[in-house]
Amino acid sequence: MTHNERNGPAVIGGGPAGLAAAEVLARAGHAVTLYERMPSVGRKFLIAGRGGLNLTHSEPLPAFLARYHPRGGVLADAIGAFPPDALRGWCDELGEPTFVGSSGRVFPESFKASPLLRAWLRRLDGLGVRIRTRHRFTGWSARGGAMFEAPEGRIETAHGPVLLALGGASWPRLGSDGAWVPLLAREGVAVAPLEAANVGFTLAWSPVFAERFAGTPLKRIALAIDGTAVRGEAVISADGIEGGAVYALSRHIRAATERGGAVLHLDLRPDLSEAALARALSRPKPGLSLANRLRKDAALPPVGIGLLREAAHPLPVAAEALAALIKAVPLRPEAPRSIERAISTAGGVAFAELDGRFMLRRRPGTFVAGEMLDWEAPTGGYLLQGAFASGRAAAAGMLDWMASSAPAS
Ligand SMILES: Cc1cc2nc3c(=O)[nH]c(=O)nc-3n(C[C@H](O)[C@H](O)[C@H](O)COP(=O)(O)OP(=O)(O)OC[C@H]3O[C@@H](n4cnc5c(N)ncnc54)[C@H](O)[C@@H]3O)c2cc1C
Repeated sequence: MTHNERNGPAVIGGGPAGLAAAEVLARAGHAVTLYERMPSVGRKFLIAGRGGLNLTHSEPLPAFLARYHPRGGVLADAIGAFPPDALRGWCDELGEPTFVGSSGRVFPESFKASPLLRAWLRRLDGLGVRIRTRHRFTGWSARGGAMFEAPEGRIETAHGPVLLALGGASWPRLGSDGAWVPLLAREGVAVAPLEAANVGFTLAWSPVFAERFAGTPLKRIALAIDGTAVRGEAVISADGIEGGAVYALSRHIRAATERGGAVLHLDLRPDLSEAALARALSRPKPGLSLANRLRKDAALPPVGIGLLREAAHPLPVAAEALAALIKAVPLRPEAPRSIERAISTAGGVAFAELDGRFMLRRRPGTFVAGEMLDWEAPTGGYLLQGAFASGRAAAAGMLDWMASSAPAS
C-alpha cells in the first residue's frame, strides 16, 4: 500500500474520538498523523477510568439512542453503525473484555482505562499511526495549512483531510479547553456556547444542614423538573447537590436556572405512592416525636428528614401534608457548577454545519467529531460511546471524501 505522507489524513486531538478515527484511517491503509497538544494522549479517558470506565450501556438501541440530545441525525447514524455491542467487541479484540454491571452499564473487567489505552496505542503503533504530542493546533494559515505550536516553534503542516476532535471544555487541565471555539467562529462556523453538562448545582443550604450532611448520599430517590423525572442517586455537597440523578437532569436544571426561579422536586420514597405514605404516617403512635414518625413510618434517613426541614419550617403535622412533602421536596438550584468541574460539555459545532460525513460544509476536507459537536447525553457510558462512534464515522467520511476527490488515473 502506498502512503502519501504529504496528502495523508491528519487527526487533531488524541481523545477517544480522535484515536478511534486514526484507527479506522490507518486500517484503510493511510499514513495517519495524530496531533495532540498535551505530552500524552487520552488523559480524559484515563480520568474516566478512575470511576471504573463506564464505556457504554447495555440497554436496547432505541432506548440507548433516546438518551442523546438532540435525537437522531448523523450522531445516531454513527452509533447505529458502531453500536454498544461493536464497542464491546472492539474491547474484546484488544484483550480487555467487558461486563454488564447491575445498572446495565458496561465496564471493562479490569475496571480501568489504562490497560485498554495501552493496548490501543500498541495497536495504533503497529498500524503506523504517528502521534505528535505537544502540538497545539492554532488555526489555519492563509494557504489553508493547519498551524501548530510545537516544541520547535510555530509550524504549518500540509495534509489531506483533517479531523478536528478537540473535545469540550470540562476539566481543562487534561487538555480540552475549548480554545478552538474562536478559531472555528472566525471561519464562520456556528458554534453553540460551551456549557457545563453532567454537572452539580449550587444550592443555598442552611449552615446547620450543610455542616451535618455535606458528603451524604441520597440513595434510591427520584428527581423531577419541568415534567422530566429520573430515578437514581445524588449526593449533598456543602453548597449544592451532585450525583447521577442530578447529572441526568442537568440540561433541564440548567435551562430552569437560566430562566430564574428553578425548582427541582425530590421524591424521597419513589417506591411508595403518596397515599400509601399518608396511610403509614397516619397510624396513631402516641408519644412518638415527628422525627421518629418520619424515621419509622416513612423509613426516612436523617438526611431525608433534614431535607424536609430545609424545605418547610415548621414541618406540617398532618399525614397527608407530610406525605406530599416527602414525595416532592422542593429544592432551589441556583446555578450549575463551573465548566471546569463538569463531566462533559453541552454546546459545540452545530450539526447544521456538517454534511452527512461529519465534514464542515464551509471547509471541505475538514471533519469534526466527539464532544466538540453540539450534543449532550447523561453519564452511563453514552458520552464515550458517542465519542467512539462519531470518531469512526468521521473517519469513514474522510475515506469517502478521499476516494471521491482522488484524481482520476
Ligand atoms: C471525571 C470524568 C469522568 C468521566 N467518566 C466517563 C465515563 O465513565 N463514561 C463516559 O462515557 N464518559 C465519561 N466521561 C466523559 C468522556 O471522557 C468524554 O466525553 C470523552 O473523553 C470525549 O472524547 P473526545 O475525544 O471527544 O474528547 P477528549 O477526550 O476531551 O479529547 C480531546 C483531545 O484533544 C486535545 N486537544 C484539545 N485542544 C487541542 C489543540 N488545540 N491542539 C491539539 N490537541 C488538542 C486534548 O488535549 C484531548 O486530548 C468522563 C469525563 C470526566 C471529566
